[in-house]
Amino acid sequence: MSSGTKYVYFFGGGKSDGDASMRNLLGGKGANLAEMSNIGLPVPAGFTITTELCTYFYDNDRTYPPELKQQVEDAMKQVEQTMGAEFGSQENPLLLSCRSGARESMPGMMDTVLNIGLNDTTVEVLSKKSGNPAFAWDSYRRFIQMYGDVVMEVRPEGKEEDGYELILDEAREAAGVEYDSQLNVEQLKEVVTKFKKLIRDKAGKDFPTDPMEQVWGAVGAVFQSWMNDRAIVYRRQYGIPHSWGTAVNVQAMVFGNLGDDCATGVGLTRDCSMGAPGFNGDYLINAQGEDVVAGIRTPKRIEKTLGDDMPEAYKQLCNIGETLEQHYKDVQDIEFTVQQGKVWMLQTRNAKRTGFAAVRIAVDLVNEGLIDKKTALTKKRIPADDLNQLLQPIFDPAAKNKAIEDGTYLATGINAGPGAATGIICFHAEDAEAIQAKDPDVQLILVRRETSPEDLRGMRIAKGILTAFGGASSHAALVSRQMGKTCIVGCSELEIDYHDGTLSVGDKVLKTGDWISIDGFTGEVFAGKVETKPSEIIEVLIHKTRKPEDAETFQRYSQLMEWVDEIRTMKVRANAEPDDAAKAVAFGAEGVGLCRTEHMFFSHLDEIREMILAEEVDTRQAAINKLLPFQREDFEILFKEMNGRPVTIRLLDPPLHEFLSEHHLHEQPDLAHKLADMVGAGKEFIYRRVEELKESNPMLGHRGCRLGIVYPEITAMQARAIMEAACNVQKAGIEVHPEIMIPLVGFKAELDNQTKVVRDVAAEVLKEQGVEVEYTVGTMIEIPRAALRADEIAETAEFFSFGTNDLTQTTLGMSRDDYGGFIGFYQENDIIPSDPFQTVDQDGVGDLMKIGVERGRSTRSDLKIGICGEHGGDPASVIFCHKLGLNYVSCSPFRIPIARLAAAQAVLDS
Ligand code: PEP
Ligand code: MG
Repeated sequence: MSSGTKYVYFFGGGKSDGDASMRNLLGGKGANLAEMSNIGLPVPAGFTITTELCTYFYDNDRTYPPELKQQVEDAMKQVEQTMGAEFGSQENPLLLSCRSGARESMPGMMDTVLNIGLNDTTVEVLSKKSGNPAFAWDSYRRFIQMYGDVVMEVRPEGKEEDGYELILDEAREAAGVEYDSQLNVEQLKEVVTKFKKLIRDKAGKDFPTDPMEQVWGAVGAVFQSWMNDRAIVYRRQYGIPHSWGTAVNVQAMVFGNLGDDCATGVGLTRDCSMGAPGFNGDYLINAQGEDVVAGIRTPKRIEKTLGDDMPEAYKQLCNIGETLEQHYKDVQDIEFTVQQGKVWMLQTRNAKRTGFAAVRIAVDLVNEGLIDKKTALTKKRIPADDLNQLLQPIFDPAAKNKAIEDGTYLATGINAGPGAATGIICFHAEDAEAIQAKDPDVQLILVRRETSPEDLRGMRIAKGILTAFGGASSHAALVSRQMGKTCIVGCSELEIDYHDGTLSVGDKVLKTGDWISIDGFTGEVFAGKVETKPSEIIEVLIHKTRKPEDAETFQRYSQLMEWVDEIRTMKVRANAEPDDAAKAVAFGAEGVGLCRTEHMFFSHLDEIREMILAEEVDTRQAAINKLLPFQREDFEILFKEMNGRPVTIRLLDPPLHEFLSEHHLHEQPDLAHKLADMVGAGKEFIYRRVEELKESNPMLGHRGCRLGIVYPEITAMQARAIMEAACNVQKAGIEVHPEIMIPLVGFKAELDNQTKVVRDVAAEVLKEQGVEVEYTVGTMIEIPRAALRADEIAETAEFFSFGTNDLTQTTLGMSRDDYGGFIGFYQENDIIPSDPFQTVDQDGVGDLMKIGVERGRSTRSDLKIGICGEHGGDPASVIFCHKLGLNYVSCSPFRIPIARLAAAQAVLDS
């Protein structure tokens, strides 16, 4: 870096060095403080040290460039001039806060220090100037506590014990008061003395009294906190690069704890749980900002009581909210302080919201004319995965009524994350991890007094989160909304005893491992298990138990989906068998991209086992003939449900021992006997055939087209069933478009072989039936060789579909069934960014796909290409498929709305 690099940007007094467009350099908080000041909103002056400085800091052994000191001193002078106070002054001391501010907000993950500049001298000046010594001493004790913890690393030991908290507990007890704010000056002075001693004892040095030393200590600690454990975990979860770094904001303090005409709060310009319009939020009178987010005191609701408590401030706040929404054209999440009746803005950012709120807000803002449809559909407004929440379960009303009648209702808290969840009680994140390690499908509810960022790992595992303290903007609420978890906070009737592992309300006591159920829509908590039921959208679309006109969420969802379908160019199909076809159509499937025919075999195990056991062509053919009518009937159902939409049917794929193996014989002691009777042979014959079928690497063994090549009778039967079903359905007046797909092809010769079998049978059937049915024959591209030889393969194949489950398995040489043992470790240690079986590994597997598309279309320029691996329902992979020029993605029915939205976002991205 040149010595002229500007690392420090001043803001405040209506003339900032930066603005909102400089988010990458100034971080979200810094850029928006500058912007708010520029548009005339009341922002305490301060300065931002850039993210570039953070990068420098980590690239240079955690040191600063030489020019930083002077730049900070210059900016400090501007702050002092703007605020009319002086840092460290004995007459009019300025106090500062120091906060992190990354490009993407990472709520609660990094450190903050408030009240910088206080020492034994300035606290006395502040006492006199404010006329409120208790306030001054309370600020001082908070500062020592925060600084001691964050900068000097004098931290709590053990699970719940905290040196500072213990001192405060004792002080409150001795004084006979409930809150710290009720301690008097003498009591606070005593706390301060004890805090200083604690720090001296534990850190081996004194708490610093020099204000400038305090600033540098705080700045360093905030930069260091970019690399703390919880920040790293958070970035991994949300895909934020470690290389971005954080900015640091040093800002003049304003006080919400000067008296009863002061307050602090966090607000939302609309509700971000369900999306309803109207300014709302939490506030506490006579308190500092950290008190609201830390969730220690349960705050009051702005929309309910602030108008009465502080009418003038409430008016200012509503006006500011409106200005911000108009300016940013999105819902804002703000932090403010009211100091002696005047509102000061400390932060604004686009608000995090649930999937419900995201959809409602996006649709409402379009209808209000604030944004256009395209803006409404962007990834930032509605992450495609969030639609999942709208399909989340709710409590079955009958089960909930019964729970109420049975007296299992426990309490009501604040409904902070929608959905209904039921699970076993778990009080600690580390316990949740241990339980999940033993049982990956465990359903648990994380119950905490309040959550702190350390609980993130447990929250990820939990089906729901329940806290006794905190408001709708507490850490627990923010993070669970983002994760789409059901969440209730501030459920103050709960008595939680971590030591005994109990939760009680009056005389009702539940303990670790007991079942509990929470309703994130209403905030109600029940003891025991309450059955859940599907969402409103599912009721309208799938169960048809609700009329669309009575379902508001559904109506917004369908308006949004109309816009989605206007924009996207890639089709979305379903991976579906006859049972799922109606669901798939209801979710908007434009065809079936993968019908796995072996799934239909599972209900006809006798016949398929007979086929497997046969050693002669004749006996095999006889068994196969029995399967034909079942297959035909299934295909007829599928064609009818899909009503003219294209249907890709994949011929038999799995190795035969999935239907008959030693495992089956072992599990069912009578089976060998039964099969021997069925085929008229001895049990030894059955055991011999099973032994012959055994493979050491079945996933790389005799499966896919290799089966059809060795046993062409199977392919012929399936082709006949498909074509006869197609003829029958077409004769009944319903259009059919069968696409017959050959699995696991690596060589053109394999495809040629199977295509010939299919076409010969099809010609026969069409002749017999006397009708013309248009059909195509294509292949899956799921082996690297097929992608590499796609030009050749496309000479025969009329379409391709990427089977990215097998393509990932075979490209990475990673078993799709066994990779779970190490993939978590890989991700946690940044070996690979994401699970390659969920999100396409774009550099490796993706490159093969690109080659497959290019080479395939070099032979057949109009080659239809899709994807039917699990990745077809993953938003990032859908966007990648759009970039590759695929015609469609195919995914499970419940992922279809997500894939549709992601496909539209792919267009908006490009
Ligand atoms: C695939 O491999 O991606 C695929 C869709 O086929 P299956 O999962 O049935 O192997
Ligand atoms: Mg496959």
